[in-house]
Amino acid sequence: MSDCLFCRIAAGSIPSNLVYQDDQIVAFEDINPQAPVHVLVIPRRHIPSVADFTGADANLLGQMVDACVKIARQKGVAESGYRIVTNTGPHAGQSVFHVHFHVLGGRHLAWPPG
Ligand code: 5GP
Ligand code: ZN
Repeated sequence: MSDCLFCRIAAGSIPSNLVYQDDQIVAFEDINPQAPVHVLVIPRRHIPSVADFTGADANLLGQMVDACVKIARQKGVAESGYRIVTNTGPHAGQSVFHVHFHVLGGRHLAWPPG
């Protein structure tokens, strides 16, 4: 989708600090980090939110989680711990409607979230 911010980042037409990419997935540093490690993991294909995944996306979902785990290792927070978050809809504060997993770590993360 040409008017989607994350589609444009995935296509490289908007710059980002890439952390990982393959044929299905792109990961990049969040522009407004909420923790020392804050990476966004997205599918290249435009999918608005987790509510739009179907059974046919099982492999893609697995690859996205795998990418999150690898990024946590690469960023050095695998042992200290990290959080994988996806916000869905208004109460969760979703602001970009191209599904993304936040990988947050490098500090103690409060629970429950605000
Ligand atoms: P959401 O609020 O939808 O869960 O998360 C959207 C995230 O995208 C936010 O953490 C926000 O900082 C990040 N973001 C918004 N615009 C940009 C951008 O242009 N580049 C990057 N790298 N991150 C962005
Ligand atoms: Zn998109």
